[in-house]
Amino acid sequence: MSVIRILPEAVANKIAAGEVVERPASVAKELVENSLDAGASSVEVRVESGGKRLIRVADDGCGMTRDDALLAFERHATSKITSANDLDAIATLGFRGEALPSIAAVSRLTLETRHASEEAGTRMEFAGGKLRDVKEIARPCGTTFEVRSLFHNVPARRKFLRSESTELGHIASMVTHYALAHPDKAFRLESVSNEILKVSPVASHRERIYQVMGAKRLEQLVEFGPVERQFLPASATLKLDEEAEPDAEAETPPLFRISGFVSRPEVHKLNRNQIYFFVSRRLIRDRLALHALHEAYRNILPAGIFPVAMVFLDMPPGEVDVNVHPSKAEVRFRHSSFVHDLIRDTVLQALMASRPVAAFPMPKRPATSEQDQHGPSYTRPEASPSPAGQRNWAPPAQPREAFGAGPGRNFQLSAPRPGPAPGNLPLTEAALALYAPPEPASCPAGYAEPEPASPVNRTGELPSDLLPLGQVRSSFIIAANPEGLWIIDQHVAHERVLFEQHLRRRQDTRIEGQRLLLPIVADLQPEQRVIYESIAEELTAHGFEVEPFGQGSVAVKAAPADIRPDDVEKLVREILDGVGREARALSLDELRRSIAATVACHAAIKVNMPLDQEKMSWLLLELSKTECPMTCPHGRPIVLRYDMKEIQKAFKRI
Ligand code: ADP
Ligand code: MG
Repeated sequence: MSVIRILPEAVANKIAAGEVVERPASVAKELVENSLDAGASSVEVRVESGGKRLIRVADDGCGMTRDDALLAFERHATSKITSANDLDAIATLGFRGEALPSIAAVSRLTLETRHASEEAGTRMEFAGGKLRDVKEIARPCGTTFEVRSLFHNVPARRKFLRSESTELGHIASMVTHYALAHPDKAFRLESVSNEILKVSPVASHRERIYQVMGAKRLEQLVEFGPVERQFLPASATLKLDEEAEPDAEAETPPLFRISGFVSRPEVHKLNRNQIYFFVSRRLIRDRLALHALHEAYRNILPAGIFPVAMVFLDMPPGEVDVNVHPSKAEVRFRHSSFVHDLIRDTVLQALMASRPVAAFPMPKRPATSEQDQHGPSYTRPEASPSPAGQRNWAPPAQPREAFGAGPGRNFQLSAPRPGPAPGNLPLTEAALALYAPPEPASCPAGYAEPEPASPVNRTGELPSDLLPLGQVRSSFIIAANPEGLWIIDQHVAHERVLFEQHLRRRQDTRIEGQRLLLPIVADLQPEQRVIYESIAEELTAHGFEVEPFGQGSVAVKAAPADIRPDDVEKLVREILDGVGREARALSLDELRRSIAATVACHAAIKVNMPLDQEKMSWLLLELSKTECPMTCPHGRPIVLRYDMKEIQKAFKRI
């Protein structure tokens, strides 16, 4: 029984045209996609010389009959679509019917395959696109492709290949993406000398991330979702009139599902390389999705710093057009602003919920059996992965929520919060932590059982009724309110207050600086000089008066108020360096944030500074008015809390 058909010309012409075989990784990608489309539960990739000498992809999928195998190498031969209508709702990774002939044309290719309906398997050999040999073989169901001597007959292409390690890097990255997207399948990637990736099937994305990236990375991430949202066109919400006939013709509103992992604010990456979006398990590149993520981290990460993210979106195939580019990595969403807002709001919600309130760094707390019954409990995994199923990592079941307010921004998300729940550390342990050497701000407690949130933690807001009790080491303010005991890092708290004030003032107007008694002359590196010239105008609007002064120097004549004169030179350098590290051009908004964050850091009160009661009260009140009182503009936590419940528990009162 043959399932592959050659697409009629009219359909073929509607397919985004273009070359798919650019480099070894693109060959490997097409073959891996075919294996996944064939329903494989195991995909094995072997690469020699960065894929230039050999790429072998073996799967245990459905395989092909002899007739299908012969047809598969024709142009536009595919089993995945038959008509132009199918292009509107593509549910498979492939659909173009072009990969196999394109790969065969530029390599020496061998295919071995067997379909369950046939006794014998088929072996075919191609060289430079010509079929050299077909024969019967004995083999299990499934398919193995071997692509040798890629581009041997296209020297121009071969010349442009990068080093073996670079090409292997691209293949490794591709296989890793698919492994992340398909935790239920086994993947293996090996080169001549190395097993680069080997993962067995697991039950969740969390376990797969652990297998692929390790415990450390997992600790840096906040899990969110799954959250489901229905897209209702604006008009649908007006149709609530009971007398209205149910409209049989109307489409059921499409259902969108989002889940994933994003990094905690203290994780800083200098580029976007660790941001992955998957739509229906296909890795995509999309500016809109990136923008949504960026929006969620606005005010949490400084300009020019990027998070780690793995975002999994699922939607009906008709909601996304993958027939935009031959690489199938660019997509177009039918309801793009809905998708944008869904990503932004869900990620923001997850970040807010995981604000490091009560984030006393407390490692080594074994999960209790009670936690084990509650979903995403997490004990620190040992260095080596253990077999699947040993830990209870199943994501919490998410009740499907009705989407009442129509499309747009007014989500009332109530995704379960995998982040640090307040008070999930017994006070005794937390108190011990005070004597332990400080741990990095990422908090393993974040994987403990999510308890019902207190209002503080749910909204990421700081209450305004905190009563300061005093300071520890003239650096940390101790405060109390009926919810518990709070510790506030005074420097970063003030930094957050000044950052938001500065930014607001700049948005409204130009900021007046304060003239210095004596101008400060700063020598600049050539690169700093170039940056200075490109941002001079914005610097002036932030209260600086800076002028070129001789060759390679500038004279600073005024600076924002609150900056001490001996700090001015350092501040200007930091601003220039902060902007300079950016590989790409900053938007005006990002530039302003970057300047505001640097100014705020320099103007803020320091640690080791005694504060009287009035100053502490003022600082706490101002902090409570900020938009993001829990994280400083550089991503560090500002506030820690001992929850009242935990205090009572520790004193055995409850
Ligand atoms: P497309 O994936 O766009 O359909 P390809 O040229 O990649 O086009 O593959 C052509 C056809 O060959 C597929 O539609 C599928 O029927 C068959 N095929 C390719 N690889 C496999 C595989 N690993 N297992 C089973 N069938 C395969
Ligand atoms: Mg394909």
